[in-house]
Amino acid sequence: MSPLLEKHLPLHANSSRSSALQDERRKDHYSHFILRLAFSATEDLRRRFSRLETMLFRLRYKDDDARERQDFVNSLDFAWEMVGEKEKLELGDDLRAATGVGRKGEEEGWFKVEWEKVPELVESRRVLLKRGTAYVPLREQMSLVVTEFTRRLDSALELTARALPRLDEDDRLSPILTHLSRSFTAPDVAYDSSSTLAGDFHPNASNIDALSQHFPLCMSHLHTTLRQNSHLKHYGRLQYTLFLKGLGLSLEDCILFWRRSFKLITDEKFAKEYRYNIRHAYGDVGGDANRRGRGYTPYSCQKLLTEALPGAGQTHGCPYRTFTPDNLVALLQQTGVNDREVLKGVREDVGKQRYHVACNRVFESTHKREIKRVKDEGLWNASELDVIAHPNTYFKRSFLLKHLDDKPAEEIKKENE
Ligand code: SF4
Repeated sequence: MSPLLEKHLPLHANSSRSSALQDERRKDHYSHFILRLAFSATEDLRRRFSRLETMLFRLRYKDDDARERQDFVNSLDFAWEMVGEKEKLELGDDLRAATGVGRKGEEEGWFKVEWEKVPELVESRRVLLKRGTAYVPLREQMSLVVTEFTRRLDSALELTARALPRLDEDDRLSPILTHLSRSFTAPDVAYDSSSTLAGDFHPNASNIDALSQHFPLCMSHLHTTLRQNSHLKHYGRLQYTLFLKGLGLSLEDCILFWRRSFKLITDEKFAKEYRYNIRHAYGDVGGDANRRGRGYTPYSCQKLLTEALPGAGQTHGCPYRTFTPDNLVALLQQTGVNDREVLKGVREDVGKQRYHVACNRVFESTHKREIKRVKDEGLWNASELDVIAHPNTYFKRSFLLKHLDDKPAEEIKKENE
């Protein structure tokens, strides 16, 4: 994001020597409030705007000048108190043991706050508790500030929404605002939503079979198992549902997809035991993790490669890690990967636990011709061919490569400029 922000929405620290400080602030201010107006009309728009604005805030907060950031935090009046040197000496070992600070060469620093202010940190045992006071590592400060930012923005958006009807009669502003919010069509997934295809591509309950040829092994294995057994166990369902959500499949279509796939059970059983979990994954129901209405994000390779291994009868996770080398090779051969050199390389990769390298090796082999073409003809930027680290990126890249001829080369180049 940094080069994009620098180009379109720079916002240097107050201490910077930039001559455009005031202009930058004015532009940022205007754009924020115009978007607030445009994206406050419905719950869905508010949710999307709030998520993206929070991401922007997080980036800027991280990049800000350290002293100015601390001044800003102090101005929030959070009733935090930094732990002084004397107290650090007294509690040092307890503090480090309870909060894990200092393990990876991290700078030591804590602040004190009433424990009721950070219940989620207390619950996950990331703080030291003493006489009702929580000692919180400095690294957690950002997540508290960001949470507060989102909370304030959400309530401001609701206020704006209540004031919107007053604009109804204004025929200058309303069409512009409506147009702005309509252009914002990217599906609402909290992971890198650029992994979702836009344009004419519309996944639905009926075309998942056809699309599955572009799935990475983790998802094609789930899909095949689902077709064979008309069922998937809980974690497999969750992993697959989130992947489909990342493709841009709507909640309604996702429910329909699962309903049709679970052929052997009644509507009543489906409604009782499965529908809720799908809605929950989409953020349509549920509290806590879902309270911001986004649901869960599609799992990355890293998550799939580090979670607990599946038990008997379970099919979730990354097959490059969960299968024995022989079974993995057999599975790859079933999906049409027969090149002996590639299979040999895969064995070596998984032997060294470089699972995603093996996956990228297979991708490069199965898309060899198309990758050569985009390179030779300069159709894609080099970054478009970076190492794949997310199943949804795998899908998107595979889909685009296999549909290169759907668009004239000039158009593809232009889009990637
Ligand atoms: Fe899926 Fe990632 Fe494993 Fe490839 S490396 S199969 S994309 S989890």
